[in-house]
Amino acid sequence: MFYAEPLARLIEELTKLPGIGPRTAQRLAFHLLAAPEGEVQRLAEALLTAKREIGYCSTCFNLTDQDPCRICRGTDRDRGLICVVEDPKDVAAMEKTREFRGLYHVLHGAISPLDGVGPEDIRVRELIVRLGSGQCKEVILATDPDTEGEATAMYIARLVKPLGVRVTRLARGLPVGGELEYADEVTLSKALEGRREI
Ligand SMILES: [Zn+2]
Repeated sequence: MFYAEPLARLIEELTKLPGIGPRTAQRLAFHLLAAPEGEVQRLAEALLTAKREIGYCSTCFNLTDQDPCRICRGTDRDRGLICVVEDPKDVAAMEKTREFRGLYHVLHGAISPLDGVGPEDIRVRELIVRLGSGQCKEVILATDPDTEGEATAMYIARLVKPLGVRVTRLARGLPVGGELEYADEVTLSKALEGRREI
């Protein structure tokens, strides 16, 4: 043990974060120790407040501090349109385009047999239940343009089409194998505009 116990513990906790290796954890820990106490206090409070107050919207499963979420409550939203995405970060990416005025459904993952993720492990069933209300006229499948995203889109399309709901997929043009959240706003707007029936 090279460091005093409280410092070693801080480094150990930081190392558990995604993308943070031991060197970065060490750098962050030293930064925090050198920072004014008020700054560290605000960081600690932000962590705990976010953890305590953010949950899933019971309708769309996006992250929210109110249930239903702001988008699901929005009076300016087209309730006939549901955009299905893998991740809450994808909702943020779509919202940034300012082109989409419908609702969302966040799957929290994609079907991936290799990783042992089946349809029952993501929020597919909840989508089908939601469509039962008959309000939705079109489901836009905006899962990632990679193998898992395509497989998930095909799986959902097969379930949704018999319900008499139009099913579309974002147009190609998104970088294949990439992730939706990293697509720029223009590319994403075009992919939305050029969506095709599947
Ligand atoms: Zn919602």
